[in-house]
Amino acid sequence: MDFNPLLSNARNQTGDTEFYLPVPAGYQPGRTKYVVVMGTVMSGLGKGIFSSSLAKCLQDKGLVVAPIKLEGYLNIDAGTLNPYRHGEVFVLDDGTECDMDLGTYERALNHDLSRANFATSGQIYRRVLDRERTGGYLGRDVQMIPHVTGEVKNRLRELAIGTQADVVFVEIGGTVGDVENHYYIEAMRQLAFEEGPSNVCFVALTYVMEPPTLGEQKSKAAQLGIRQLMQCGIQPHIIACRANSPVTQKVRDKIALFSNVPPERVFSMHDCETVYLIPELLRGAGVDAAVIGWLDLASRVDEDAERLARDTWMGYVNRLRTAQRQVRIGMMGKYTAVRDAYASILKSLEHAGVWLGTRVELDWVDATEVSDASVAEALQNVNGIIVPGAFGTRGAEGKIACLRHARETGLPTLGICYGFQMAVIEYARNVCGMEDANSTEIDNDCRFPVINLLPEQRKVEGMGASMRLGGHDVIITPGSLAARMFGSRCRLRFRHRYEVEPRYIPALETAGMCFSGRAPRGEIMHILELPAAAHPFFVGTQAHPELISRPLRPSPFFLGLVDAALRRAGYSDLPPLRYPGEDPVENAAAADTPTLSA
Ligand code: GLN
Repeated sequence: MDFNPLLSNARNQTGDTEFYLPVPAGYQPGRTKYVVVMGTVMSGLGKGIFSSSLAKCLQDKGLVVAPIKLEGYLNIDAGTLNPYRHGEVFVLDDGTECDMDLGTYERALNHDLSRANFATSGQIYRRVLDRERTGGYLGRDVQMIPHVTGEVKNRLRELAIGTQADVVFVEIGGTVGDVENHYYIEAMRQLAFEEGPSNVCFVALTYVMEPPTLGEQKSKAAQLGIRQLMQCGIQPHIIACRANSPVTQKVRDKIALFSNVPPERVFSMHDCETVYLIPELLRGAGVDAAVIGWLDLASRVDEDAERLARDTWMGYVNRLRTAQRQVRIGMMGKYTAVRDAYASILKSLEHAGVWLGTRVELDWVDATEVSDASVAEALQNVNGIIVPGAFGTRGAEGKIACLRHARETGLPTLGICYGFQMAVIEYARNVCGMEDANSTEIDNDCRFPVINLLPEQRKVEGMGASMRLGGHDVIITPGSLAARMFGSRCRLRFRHRYEVEPRYIPALETAGMCFSGRAPRGEIMHILELPAAAHPFFVGTQAHPELISRPLRPSPFFLGLVDAALRRAGYSDLPPLRYPGEDPVENAAAADTPTLSA
């Protein structure tokens, strides 16, 4: 059946109609289909991984898939969230600070997303309130339904228009039953009503427990979770059951019976060896086929494209499984207790490791505990270190001690953002003799403020979205290590307020530090390195390279670090590392069809 005729009558927004159905100009009902994933029972089931894997399965079939994450919180973006509580703040090329799930989508789908792919309640309400202030509701009382829910549907339809997607893939944050996402769920109910059958597919992710004392799977919580969804007027079409082990037929039948979903559309999503296998798990179980069937999309599927995409992905999985070598990288972290705060760095290490046939083990080092006296012991077991991004003062001296030790002992080092800044401070203090060098973020009155606020930051007031954010071009110094990594220029993503103070650059360079990547007009230092004669691999970047590393396109920064760490660990028979960008011809081809060569 086609879309609901209400949608084509939606013009009348001003008259006496009870229906407020704003549909953005240019919207073609029925052109774009919707998949909506909602979580029940509890959070922490891996909804983001499940959703991005399912979105990838659809994209692999040659469909244009546009994901959108709907967050319940009132923050306008994720920039003001503490990564310790909420996981890392991911940054998109357009500068959007968003939930780390957007990183999961970018890595799974291997393409860049934008602010259109991320909505929070804060954004939705702000748009409604702004419109009210400018008289946009023509005297009506502004209500959760239809105005706020209307705004949610607007966002989805705008995304459909902007991307010309075959499928807009909606992931609702939180769990069904949360007060803060209730109106999103209501908006999805309306969306399905308006778009009509076969245009919206509801997927409920649920959880089947297996209490160790009972030794059998119990489905009651799952049943109740789905029932709660049905109380919101949503009949799921597909149920995916998270569980430790494969969900038995008996349990799936029971869930089917209580939820009106045929048993063949109740799937087991049990734990598996690696998250990279989830797309295969979904395909094997037929979840993708069930979505395609429900949405009547079979005629848009390209089977050849799917075969190729699967082979490429499985090539990655097989390399991951067969990696023989091993290195140990020390992570100097303030948030050492919460790994989600460093999710993209951990992924980037994995991508580089797979490329180099290496398992990367991590050693978490709490920088606040490290001093000049203890640093040798703290780093004795690692083959390389990462000093990651951070804000504020905590742990700074420990990081500087680690960087000094690493520089002096030839320990491979990658400094990221704050870590890059600490490397500059360490060099200024211990090589250039500027004893009191520091960042004005840490000590505003220091004698040598080698790291200082960016000029544009001096006038910034308030906190939200006010850093130097998003993708910026970087000009690379010929003949440097960075030139081997990137050629003559590259694009990196940023999130910072401070930079290397330009007046200290000559002194640092005279003392041997090489700034090999700069902003196009030369004013901001983006990459530093020590020459090969001084150190096997000592590299820092003001950017966040972890945000753009992908399984099939690892970041050269992490490749360089892992390769140098392997050598440090004693793998003396390694061929010289060739960065993916080193051969421009090969690189141009690789950009289109990313492959992993031996
Ligand atoms: N706090 C530093 C700055 O604002 C570094 C930021 C970061 O590591 N992301 O410049």
